[in-house]
Amino acid sequence: MNQRTSPRIRRQASPPVMQGRMGYRNAEPYLRRDFGFRCAYCGVHEQIKGGPQAFCIDHFKPRSKGGPVNDYTNLYWVCIPCNMIKHNKWLTSEQLRRGYRFADPCREQDAGIHFIESDDGLLQPLTPCGEYHISTLRLNRAWLQQHRRDRTQKWIRFNEAYQLQIELERAIEARPVDDVTRMMQRLLSFLSQEIGALRSELAVTIPIWQSEENV
Ligand SMILES: [Zn+2]
Repeated sequence: MNQRTSPRIRRQASPPVMQGRMGYRNAEPYLRRDFGFRCAYCGVHEQIKGGPQAFCIDHFKPRSKGGPVNDYTNLYWVCIPCNMIKHNKWLTSEQLRRGYRFADPCREQDAGIHFIESDDGLLQPLTPCGEYHISTLRLNRAWLQQHRRDRTQKWIRFNEAYQLQIELERAIEARPVDDVTRMMQRLLSFLSQEIGALRSELAVTIPIWQSEENV
């Protein structure tokens, strides 16, 4: 299995014991860990949505369509909007025959293979699967697109600030210690704090949905 075909999400080998109609709810802490505290579909992080209460367990193949209730591999950690939009949607055999289906982040690399993100935060399909996945889950809804656009701008600011930090450090090293140098050191300290804050913000933004070789 190479990088292009390995799944985006890898589950650890310790599924919980689950029995009965609601047994799958025992999977919550395991799912949160395995899905990196993010929605399996849109990639939003729990911290952005105010915590795990804004998330729930999705049955990838819906229970009403014959999906197993307590099979850990059929359980996905998702944000409530994605869960509501997906609801019990599943494919007809005719759609499957034409290549339409949900991309499955636990079994394949979806970003960069089935869809890709453009500079303006819009997800664009690369395959019939990507087309079905984006349109059915409404992954270009306004809030998500805006979030991805803002995240890209933050990355640009981060990279600029980081470059500036390196230049400032070099300039300080090359100078005698005087008042100007001390002011530059204060600037550097301020810049370092801003960069740290920006790094923390970026850690919980939606990942950049590009192929692995472009990231
Ligand atoms: Zn979501």
